Amino acid sequence: MPSASSRDAIPVPADVRTLLIFGGSFDPPHLAHVTLSIAARDALGLDWLLVIPAGRSPFKSNAPIANDSHRVSMLERAFSDDARSSVSTIELGTETGERPPSYTVDTLRRLRDALPGVSMRLLIGADQALSFHRWREFEAIISLAEPAVMPRPGDAEDPTRFEQEMLAHWSPEEAARWRQRLLGVPTLDVSATAIREAFAGRGDRGVLDRSLDPRVLAYIREHGVYDRPCD
Ligand code: ATP
Repeated sequence: MPSASSRDAIPVPADVRTLLIFGGSFDPPHLAHVTLSIAARDALGLDWLLVIPAGRSPFKSNAPIANDSHRVSMLERAFSDDARSSVSTIELGTETGERPPSYTVDTLRRLRDALPGVSMRLLIGADQALSFHRWREFEAIISLAEPAVMPRPGDAEDPTRFEQEMLAHWSPEEAARWRQRLLGVPTLDVSATAIREAFAGRGDRGVLDRSLDPRVLAYIREHGVYDRPCD
């Protein structure tokens, strides 16, 4: 049985049978995160979207700039218009002390144990798919939650090229399978890096209005989330 605290961290209604898991740094959450994950859930015909901010990505040397509480608040604002999604704090530790990196396979095992009978899919961007062979226990991840891949500008816009790139790390059958995992959702040229750069006074400041939900932008300004220069 999951503990009471782990149940709190997994806000999924009892009648949900199919779940789309969407993890990331969300530093900050931008419009591509929101619109594409909702479109993916609906295209896949799944009941619910569970958005999971990562404590610390094993592949990003720097911890997120925005703290956990700000990232959760921003995500809640970003997804507030959608009735079939929620934000999980399952990968977030306490505010004090060092946290270990959060590995997707561990999160999926916890979710499987906490949500018996629920079938899961894992949503990732094409940039993540191209490095998926480096993820811890990637085969276990695939059997716990079959990936679904959002194309990203420059990555997987051309399915044939994506399949060819996957051949560097996967067998021809597996590369073909990865191609089938590509979703027919639009490509949106938005990244959290470009947004943080704009807050740091570099690059195109217009990206803020174009790429952030107005409520998220207002929250960031009100709380000075990115006032610290980005290094
Ligand atoms: P950063 O620029 O800091 O690396 P990011 O914009 O990639 O951030 P993340 O929080 O790292 O955002 O992304 C979470 C997930 O969303 C990842 O699987 C990533 O590939 C995917 N993703 C982010 N932006 C896009 C986008 N524009 N199109 C498709 N997938 C995206």
